[in-house]
Amino acid sequence: MARRKAATAIQEFPLIRQLQRRFERNSPSVIQGIGDDAAVVSILPGDWTVLTTDLLAEGVHFDLRTAALASVGYRAAMANLSDVAAMGATPRFLLVSIAIPPTLRTADVTQLYRGLMQACDRYDVLLIGGDTSASRQGLFLSITLLGTVKRGQALFRHGATVGDSLYVTGTIGDSLAGLQLLTKRRRTARSPRLRPADRRFLINRHLHPTARVQEGLWLNQARLATSAIDLSDGLSGDLRHICEQSRVGAAVDVAQLPLSPACQAYAETQGIDPATLALAGGEDYELLFTVAPRHERSLERQARARGFQITKVGVIRPRTFGIQTTSIDGPARPLPVTSYQHFR
Ligand code: ADP
Ligand code: MG
Repeated sequence: MARRKAATAIQEFPLIRQLQRRFERNSPSVIQGIGDDAAVVSILPGDWTVLTTDLLAEGVHFDLRTAALASVGYRAAMANLSDVAAMGATPRFLLVSIAIPPTLRTADVTQLYRGLMQACDRYDVLLIGGDTSASRQGLFLSITLLGTVKRGQALFRHGATVGDSLYVTGTIGDSLAGLQLLTKRRRTARSPRLRPADRRFLINRHLHPTARVQEGLWLNQARLATSAIDLSDGLSGDLRHICEQSRVGAAVDVAQLPLSPACQAYAETQGIDPATLALAGGEDYELLFTVAPRHERSLERQARARGFQITKVGVIRPRTFGIQTTSIDGPARPLPVTSYQHFR
């Protein structure tokens, strides 16, 4: 999890790269090691196995003064389900490890698991084990999810090539708007009011996100996408991962970013550009993916037939182009990484 960095001199991504350089070893059975949404290993005859794990710490990833335990569990499972979705895999089995502080009771842990399993039941994922410990301070939750794809067929962050179109599923920015609604009370007297239905929609998008498992399976099985990542940290940061791994650049058309009516209405109440929410906001758990131009029509047709919302938001450019935003009424600008700032 790249979100919510601890206040320490350690920087997450440089640390991971250093660990990878020093300790990762190549093997024919490791199809994808460190560096993607999930690892892919070849241990079964017909399938590749997809593995992802996340560690959540109280006070860093969640605050039990404001978040219900069921929602902590639900969102933790959904984050892992989303990583598996981004590989185009079917999520199958779950391992959960917890370190429980003295302040929690058995009933609290049951609530946490209710949330976890509510997310997993939607995808027929089975709990198969874990580990339990006491914690001196704070709740720790570690989740490992195992999935499968057909051997030889997975969606990676690498694979985007110059000229590919950049697409995103669903709408983006909703989760950040929902988080702000839950945590801030900023509204000037003159600003318009947000309709209760919009408010509910945005808060629900934050508390009850949906991993795009069906969409990931479709993109992978129909061999439509050349690369994919899930939007867990925010488009401005996650697009960078696709570009780095694929050694390409990208132009994002800000005017095309898919915004829900509720997100637009919320931005208006705050006097901000909703595109900033869409670029910065993490935890939408939509999929960002690239498609070769020759497959675009087929992609759009199939998406319509299946009822999947997808939007073209940009195009893959050479690496020297960098990552820029474009709009009709202004010059192209480098896209700064604004994701994760809202967790500061
Ligand atoms: P996500 O946000 O999708 O959960 P991360 O940014 O946490 O992904 O991880 C990026 C990559 O680095 C993944 O391949 C992950 O398995 C790997 N990784 C993260 N932390 C470690 C670690 N401590 N040791 C080895 N690999 C790690
Ligand atoms: Mg991810």
